[in-house]
Amino acid sequence: MNKIETGRNEQWREELRKSLKAKERADIPRVKMPELDAEYRSHSYDEVNQGLSLEQALTESKRCLDCLDPQCITGCPVEINIPKFIKNIERNEILEAAKTLKDTSALPAVCGRVCPQEKQCESKCIHLKMKKEAVAIGYLERFAADFAIENSCHSALDAESPVQGMADQVRHDNKSKGIKIAVVGSGPAGLSFAGDMAKFGYDVTVFEALHEIGGVLKYGIPEFRLPNAIVNVEINSLQQMGVKFITNCIVGKTISYENLHEQGFKGIFVASGAGLPNFMNIAGENLAGVLSSNEYLTRVNLMNAYKKEADTPVFLGKKVAVIGGGNTAMDSVRTARRLGAEKAMIIYRRSEEEMPARVEEIKHAKEEGVIFLTLHNPVQYIGDEKGHVKQMILQKMELGEPDASGRCKPVEIPGATETIDVDMVVVSIGVSPNPLVPSAFSGLNVSKWGTIIVNQDTMQTGLSDVYAGGDIVRGGATVILAMGDGRKAAAAMNQSFNKN
Ligand SMILES: Cc1cc2nc3c(=O)[nH]c(=O)nc-3n(C[C@H](O)[C@H](O)[C@H](O)COP(=O)(O)OP(=O)(O)OC[C@H]3O[C@@H](n4cnc5c(N)ncnc54)[C@H](O)[C@@H]3O)c2cc1C
Repeated sequence: MNKIETGRNEQWREELRKSLKAKERADIPRVKMPELDAEYRSHSYDEVNQGLSLEQALTESKRCLDCLDPQCITGCPVEINIPKFIKNIERNEILEAAKTLKDTSALPAVCGRVCPQEKQCESKCIHLKMKKEAVAIGYLERFAADFAIENSCHSALDAESPVQGMADQVRHDNKSKGIKIAVVGSGPAGLSFAGDMAKFGYDVTVFEALHEIGGVLKYGIPEFRLPNAIVNVEINSLQQMGVKFITNCIVGKTISYENLHEQGFKGIFVASGAGLPNFMNIAGENLAGVLSSNEYLTRVNLMNAYKKEADTPVFLGKKVAVIGGGNTAMDSVRTARRLGAEKAMIIYRRSEEEMPARVEEIKHAKEEGVIFLTLHNPVQYIGDEKGHVKQMILQKMELGEPDASGRCKPVEIPGATETIDVDMVVVSIGVSPNPLVPSAFSGLNVSKWGTIIVNQDTMQTGLSDVYAGGDIVRGGATVILAMGDGRKAAAAMNQSFNKN
């Protein structure tokens, strides 16, 4: 990381740095995110985290020491210039802070809400070495991004507004190239790729299988964690840049690889995600009332299935067991709680320490009354006379030696089982890539896990005009990694067109 990139040659940052001693900065306590009352929110879809006030953000920004060798940047998968955006907040130049974020992150308002900062940028914060709490980088990211959104929305016709200004610029550039590019899937990988390609001046069309744009950001992550309005702002900004969206169109079924060529698309980015749920293949998994988290969350988030009058209403369980310990499991169990579950349980075969979910999600789930049955693993579901799940048998586990993932392996305790009453089970033990695109694009190299194999530097696949990124390449990963792939692929595809 060079020093110019981190912006430390700027005069104002040197002055800011001298304005307060490092110890004084370090002694400021970390800000607390204002959040809705736990009892209220366990019945409400309102966003739990309320966002920092300007005053809180200004104070928190002072905690950043603007290190000469900022390790936080190395902890961010897209290498946001973190000290620079935070120091812009400190001098109350919030739109500048948002611009710094946008330089490297296509969706900062999303990432500020859902990135696992505690495992990424914040885990590298120098404060941790001083036994202090890390700077709240994620909260500040969200603050700056939301501020920019609010100000852009309030002055939509203002050419100075970051979104509008960029859209005008891109519309102008678009005329100059006229090369058609197709994107398969409108999740974070597809959106970030589309944004960058539009900025480079390509004519970008995103094909989306579902009726809504946004991928997991819309159909997976619930409103109480990531409001659709936030995702819509980002989508609108892409539309303003000239990106076209075609929904209800399954590439590989509705339209083939060959059709895309016939329609003149010269480059394709596959960002079809990993939407195929895994099951445990245990007895009783076919009973009514047992479903995957993908089905559950998609039906609730996209199809209003929680309403009785919905075309395909979802069963509203009162004793709901969610199997798994990741973000998807937490989203499912907290959704079940909001939909009236009196007993909403997480069943996880390891201990809480090994849970892959964000620490904040686990904390919020507990506050909302979710019961955690860790070191328990389902071995069988039992149905009633109508074929609806009524009980599950759990095997009790203990932790053994670390396995290949580095986490302690769960080991069965012989003979220790427990039967509990349930009326709904949501299986949330991971996802696999959707096999449709890999099989419909003949010539793609596919791994044994079903992921598309790409050149890691360019995201180009075995087919020279096809690039791929996000979960279809990585398996279930994260929003920021998917976005990073989209950006990398856009840069590489653009370079290849420029060469020819
Ligand atoms: C419930 C849940 C919670 C999560 N929480 C977090 C979190 O807190 N933090 C985090 O960083 N990550 C989280 N993740 C993971 C993260 O959302 C994903 O890693 C990320 O969305 C992957 O982005 P993507 O663009 O590759 O795919 P997706 O977001 O899955 O988007 C793929 C899109 O492609 C479409 N598609 C698929 N096949 C076709 C086709 N043939 N033709 C046209 N369109 C197609 C799909 O309908 C979908 O809209 C979560 C995931 C889930 C499911």
